[in-house]
Amino acid sequence: MMQTPLLLTQMIERAEKYFPKKEIVSRTESGIQRFTYKQWGERTRRLASALEKLGVREGDKVGTLAWNHHRHLEAYFAIPCSGAVLHTINIRLSPQHVSYIVNNAEDKVLLIDSDVLPLVESIKDELTTVKAFVIMTDKEKLPETTLTPVYHYEELVAEGDPSFAFRTDLDENAPAGMCYTSATTGNPKGVIYSHRGTVLHTMALGLVDTAGVSEKDTALPVVPMFHVNAWGLPFAAVWFGTKQVLPGPYFTPKILAELMQEEKVTISAGVPTIWLGLLKELEQNKYDLSSLRYLLCGGSAAPRGMIKTFEEKYNIPFRHGYGMTETSPLTNISTTKSYQENLSKEEKLDLKAKQGILAPCLEMKVIGKEGEVKWDGKEMGELALRGPWIASEYFKDERTKDAFRDGWLYTGDVVTVDEEGNIKIVDRTKDLIKSGGEWISSVDLENALMAHEGIFEAAVVAVPSEQWQERPVACVVLKDEMKESVTKEEIYEFLKPQFAKWWLPDEILFLNEIPKTSVGKFLKRALREEIKEKIK
Ligand code: AMP
Repeated sequence: MMQTPLLLTQMIERAEKYFPKKEIVSRTESGIQRFTYKQWGERTRRLASALEKLGVREGDKVGTLAWNHHRHLEAYFAIPCSGAVLHTINIRLSPQHVSYIVNNAEDKVLLIDSDVLPLVESIKDELTTVKAFVIMTDKEKLPETTLTPVYHYEELVAEGDPSFAFRTDLDENAPAGMCYTSATTGNPKGVIYSHRGTVLHTMALGLVDTAGVSEKDTALPVVPMFHVNAWGLPFAAVWFGTKQVLPGPYFTPKILAELMQEEKVTISAGVPTIWLGLLKELEQNKYDLSSLRYLLCGGSAAPRGMIKTFEEKYNIPFRHGYGMTETSPLTNISTTKSYQENLSKEEKLDLKAKQGILAPCLEMKVIGKEGEVKWDGKEMGELALRGPWIASEYFKDERTKDAFRDGWLYTGDVVTVDEEGNIKIVDRTKDLIKSGGEWISSVDLENALMAHEGIFEAAVVAVPSEQWQERPVACVVLKDEMKESVTKEEIYEFLKPQFAKWWLPDEILFLNEIPKTSVGKFLKRALREEIKEKIK
């Protein structure tokens, strides 16, 4: 067989050639804008030529700090298809982490949404590699900014070359993208996606038994384009000629429901928090969402009750997927096999609440106390994965050795596997808290708390939250001599300058001691039980 490279360039060229009339609907700061794939392809080529003029060369990293909109989608292809690396940066991270990420990745240019400007301005003096800032705004004039040198995205596009030639000669193993994932402690860890990995992952998204993305669909990725490439949906939509609806900045459940209704969306993807919000909206107002083929839910376990309400009350099917930044992300998806069609509704729901079976191309093993676990739905072990869209290391990071061993990625997720091969996530070996689809490191919060002069020890645990899935609660033991003088308010003031606002614990509880394991580690399971009553 021939050895032709698997490159993202094939995706955009296919969209331009076969689907020039198909539409991209983009909600931006000034309202809904519409582009055909033909117009979008031209704008993307113009952007690529402009970036080249700014000095971006093969292998250079270009960072984006942006919501889901057409400009971000242009960057998604202009950057990798000209040989550079698309580095999507999570705009919800703390300034310290963003600054670390940009420097660690060695970003040369940053493309920034105007509402993210204050974040970048606050760290501009720390950025050691950035040579140019480009503001992605609808407004004709650039907003006032202290960043320099600064360019207007639309001016660059207007001056760019609409017939710029994308690279077709790249090595398929060359980096195309990059994304950082939060660590249990310390700085985020970078993952590089190759062209080959992304192409194969995208192909998998088109399989009927995974996401089945098709030309006939209208896709609305709610999951941010700065978080694992919006689970790969933008790539799939472009390659398969799918109409896309990009929900833009600061969307609400109402905005999402309206977009779904008006644009006749057939598939959408997001974390449980998003769907819980949508559910509330559907309970208050009437919408016609009959076009929806399914909602893809992942990032945290999809609550069974939520799936049931969507499916039975609103007739909206759910698909439950599992994956992580290191895995592009999709690896597993819940399914009912053909011979399970006669299962009861409740049994089918049980299946859907699991994270499902492995996608083709991938391999998994689940390592328990005594080697690989039995597929009995009971024995627990850590999930390890390998395959062409699973990362093989963290970018310039010693923590690679902790997660990547003997050619496998150890996910840190503890699972059971049933007789049909469906995995069920039981727990995480890492003690991260997942709030609204984003990570909060309990260890970082604990370290900060324990640096307070009045605090003897502190443990931060996740408590279930209807809206956010999980929220942090801090359990604090004060030093004897300070017991009377330290207040909650004072601790919050102490934490505030160190963390993004949404990282701050919802509650600070004062305890006499924190339960510990035999080796002196905080026994978080026991702690969660202990505080259950206190936080009701
Ligand atoms: P991230 O790298 O931020 O996408 O987070 C990946 C982590 O999210 C995984 O290691 C799991 O702990 C968790 N996760 C993802 N999908 C699911 C799911 N469907 N159910 C439970 N946990 C999930």
